[in-house]
Amino acid sequence: MYQFFVQDQIKMSYVCEKCKTAGCKLWRGYNNSSIEILCISCKENNKKYIPAVPISKKGGGYWGYTSIPEKSIKWWKQLPTVK
Ligand SMILES: [Zn+2]
Repeated sequence: MYQFFVQDQIKMSYVCEKCKTAGCKLWRGYNNSSIEILCISCKENNKKYIPAVPISKKGGGYWGYTSIPEKSIKWWKQLPTVK
């Protein structure tokens, strides 16, 4: 039910793991091996976060901070910060 199109053709759930908010900018921990995807309201202020930009709908996780393609970061930036 939270599935929608991410980027041009990637359909996946892009949802905050805590409050289930969908369709806004999501973040992930900078150095976490277990990736938790959070919205701005659920982020902890004392932790470092980077944009959570999905690589593909088949899993594969999220782009590393230095390897996010221009096109994908543009997609992420146009998302509303708060929903
Ligand atoms: Zn949230």
